Amino acid sequence: MGAENPSNAIRRRGLMLVLSSPSGAGKSTIARNLLESDPGLELSVSVTTRARRGSEIDGMHYHFRSMRDFERLRDSDALLEWAEVHGNYYATPREPAEIAMAQGRDMLFDIDWQGAEQLKEKMRADIVSIFILPPSMGELKARLRRRAEDQDAVIETRLHNARVELEHWRDYDYVVVNDDLDKAFASVKAIVTAERLRRDRRPGLFDFVSKLLDEKV
Ligand code: 5GP
Repeated sequence: MGAENPSNAIRRRGLMLVLSSPSGAGKSTIARNLLESDPGLELSVSVTTRARRGSEIDGMHYHFRSMRDFERLRDSDALLEWAEVHGNYYATPREPAEIAMAQGRDMLFDIDWQGAEQLKEKMRADIVSIFILPPSMGELKARLRRRAEDQDAVIETRLHNARVELEHWRDYDYVVVNDDLDKAFASVKAIVTAERLRRDRRPGLFDFVSKLLDEKV
């Protein structure tokens, strides 16, 4: 279809899709569904000093690193942004993101508000940011408990940090309340579709429209 339909081949800039939310608001599930349903979107795999959870794979969910390695990466300017979250360090590796943008590929960043703020400063035009809200704090706590990969003390810390994260909802381009996963996912997909069609993200439109105008009919 791509080759037959010239509008699919119009060159455009890659977009940096930033998803943030307090832990437990459903962001990871939405991110996973997006990546599975949209081959044009790839995940920025973050570096973290946090301990690996049982279900996680190094290099796929995160690059798990020691504090020393993290500091080395940070000091050599290999990180696009970094932040301390829940007492651990997290960061976006610079190179994969810069290559993706240069090649016009879209990338998904599952990062907190501090990272979103830093990316926005550096790559303003390429960023589309979405904040996912839980339907209630009670539901958020229940989701954190159900996840149960963390201990009680960790859950309490995350609940406290959720309030801090929530205060930054205004800094995002879009806000989606996740009271129904299917609906929230559909909303996020709609945002991605619309943002890909933005005129200012599609320098290839100039050629496309010139050709249209030149066409003899
Ligand atoms: P978790 O430990 O539950 O995987 O993630 C905790 C929080 O850290 C989440 O809100 C997640 O979005 C955030 N996070 C993950 N990777 C990064 C990153 O590279 N940079 C920043 N700033 N936050 C991140």
